[in-house]
Amino acid sequence: MAQKIPATVVTGFLGSGKTTLIRNLLAQSNGKRIALIINEFGDLGVDGDILKGCGDAACTEEDVVELSNGCICCTVADDFIPTLEKLLDRADPPEHIVIETSGLALPQPLVRAFNWPDIRTRVTVDGVITVVDGNAVHEGRFAHDPAAVDQQRAADDSLDHETPLSELFADQVTCADMIIVNKTDLLDAAAARDLTQDLVERSRDGVHVVPTSHGALPISVLLGQNAGAEADVDARQESHHHHHDHDHDHDHDHDEHGHDAFESFVVTRAEVEDVASFEARLADVIRAHDILRLKGFAAVAGKPMRLTLQAVGPRVDSYFDRPFGGDETRQTRLVVIGQRGLDQAEITRALAA
Ligand SMILES: [Zn+2]
Repeated sequence: MAQKIPATVVTGFLGSGKTTLIRNLLAQSNGKRIALIINEFGDLGVDGDILKGCGDAACTEEDVVELSNGCICCTVADDFIPTLEKLLDRADPPEHIVIETSGLALPQPLVRAFNWPDIRTRVTVDGVITVVDGNAVHEGRFAHDPAAVDQQRAADDSLDHETPLSELFADQVTCADMIIVNKTDLLDAAAARDLTQDLVERSRDGVHVVPTSHGALPISVLLGQNAGAEADVDARQESHHHHHDHDHDHDHDHDEHGHDAFESFVVTRAEVEDVASFEARLADVIRAHDILRLKGFAAVAGKPMRLTLQAVGPRVDSYFDRPFGGDETRQTRLVVIGQRGLDQAEITRALAA
């Protein structure tokens, strides 16, 4: 029997550090062909662009597939399975497949999909890695930015589960083969130890709980877990909720987490002259307008590389990720997310100035 291709499922909420973890992983691929399936949707799809720019020779654009039509567990049959089959049917199939779920997805139905007849003979779940925002969980929020998670939820019409964050978190912990507790540098030693211990108790026997601060883990720790998770998916099930049919009667669906609560828009502008002063301006605009999240790319005068920008709250992170392509417009493009009522004209003016 032919060797099955291992697949790693990476789950965790928006802002937990999944993308950084995967970037670190790909940077260590050392020629191993790793394909990536990313489940992003709504205006947050820019994560896919961040990973496409990883710059590693073994990480070509065709190895990165975005599932942007909605929650991966709600679109298993229509979207995920066909995508997986397409990867497997390639003349040179990947040696490993990494799947980044949106964090709204229930991991169990996704893992269960690997038992489909045409799939289970060809691929196996090497491990489910759950990335936890240690600081957010310690503070009882579960996600770094619950409002941005709700915005992502609101952007997905196919989502058929209104699972609260606390239950999604429990699902992610129950399904995990390894739990990465990220951002422990923001916790004192005792809090980090307590949280780690709590997660050990909440997870299944033998699950590794690994504290880290910037998602920097050796590829040898992340891949090659040989869990065969699809075989014991029933043991990874929380029993507190059920998929239910989407209620299209929006008259009964008005709450503070509904579609109306958040908005996002894109600002484009020409090259940025000076990175430090532009970042300072971003921080000012974020504070002045109570922007929840801001991310994208900038063209910087005199620099051939593209600058990746990510801001959560007033903290702005940036790094040059790859050169602009020859046919690519050197422009700056930022996605702005906030609660409804953002002064889009004023924000655009301030960012474009
Ligand atoms: Zn789903």
